[in-house]
Amino acid sequence: MLPIERRKFLTTLSLAGAATLVSGNPLLAATAPKKDKLGIALVGLGYYSTDLLAPALQMTEKCYLAGIVTGTPAKAQQWKAKYKIPDKNIYNYQNFDQIANNPDIDVVYVVLPPSMHREFVVRAANAGKHVFCEKPMAPSVADCEAMIAACQKNKVKLAIGYRCQHDPNIQAVMKVAKEQKFGKVKMITSAAGYFDARTDHWKQKKALGGGVMGDMGVYALQGARLATGEEPIRVIAQASTTRPEIYKEVEETMMFLLDFPSGARAACQTSFGINMNHLQVNYEKGWLKLEPQSSYLGNKGSMSDGTNIDFPIKNQQAKQLDEDCLALMNQTDLIAPGEEGLRDIRVVEAIYQSVRSGQSVKI
Ligand code: NAD
Repeated sequence: MLPIERRKFLTTLSLAGAATLVSGNPLLAATAPKKDKLGIALVGLGYYSTDLLAPALQMTEKCYLAGIVTGTPAKAQQWKAKYKIPDKNIYNYQNFDQIANNPDIDVVYVVLPPSMHREFVVRAANAGKHVFCEKPMAPSVADCEAMIAACQKNKVKLAIGYRCQHDPNIQAVMKVAKEQKFGKVKMITSAAGYFDARTDHWKQKKALGGGVMGDMGVYALQGARLATGEEPIRVIAQASTTRPEIYKEVEETMMFLLDFPSGARAACQTSFGINMNHLQVNYEKGWLKLEPQSSYLGNKGSMSDGTNIDFPIKNQQAKQLDEDCLALMNQTDLIAPGEEGLRDIRVVEAIYQSVRSGQSVKI
């Protein structure tokens, strides 16, 4: 049985005609005039779209907020008034597939709970649009692979919203790894968490892709992966909660140890019960510290040779959006493509496997 949205999509597809969908993305049409700015449609107008992405899209040079997709008519009216979005660029979850026929929209940015990412990325790709998708990419490796395959089949690009990879302070950490400035990595401590006071939210629901591991845990994991420049080969993990009345279905806290091929080891922690945000890397001949390591503004730190890591950044999301759009326009590599999201979800799956078995898991 096909999911309801998919069935509606197939109906729309047959009505609209497959030919229209194939040429749905103006960037893909050889005859299309070159655009100075790409049109972005945000799907899901919750906290991140409202407080971070829409304001950032007022600062971007390579893209602008062209459309919205929402299940809440009242939000559509508010956003229409605030951002002057024309009616023809406003969709709901049912008529979303008609976006294929809208030349104003070049990129669909999926900002929904993680369990909905696969459906909307696939529908956007089938509509011929490039896709940006928020982290965590999806709840499973199978979902991530299906999303990548749909984008490949439709010849559109897929970027994951790993804003930190666009931050020069995080890029400085990656550079130390690449150049082996202090020799090999020996030990890493990486933490990402915040106290979430909410008591009824998708982050506490398994069916919507909740749990701290996908939400904040990917920042702790990325800290370790980016600081080594390697993929972990083994993990052992423990999940826990101090508020079982709220975290009934998913973990509030996850602690996990990673082994890397070079022999580097990382101790990572993530929680919805504790404010923490730091990375410490000990190398053969020095160290590096970042605190915070995954904030929107002001990631900063220092190294054992006295170097400060404190690059200014005006707006992380605007930089991410502009750099990703420039990559689409110039047909160059994306900083964090779908494959990068998949790398994290492979580890996340192994972490849950380890929690269930109580054993270390090879990745
Ligand atoms: P949110 O709960 O504030 O918003 C979710 C949106 O999805 C809302 O507009 C809601 O109406 C809509 N929605 C549709 N169907 C829903 C359903 N069945 N249940 C719940 N909501 C439903 O969440 P958010 O914090 O905006 O997170 C959205 C995505 O953005 C997630 O993937 C999250 O991890 C990601 N995010 C990323 C960052 C970052 O720094 N990159 C920061 C925050 C959130």
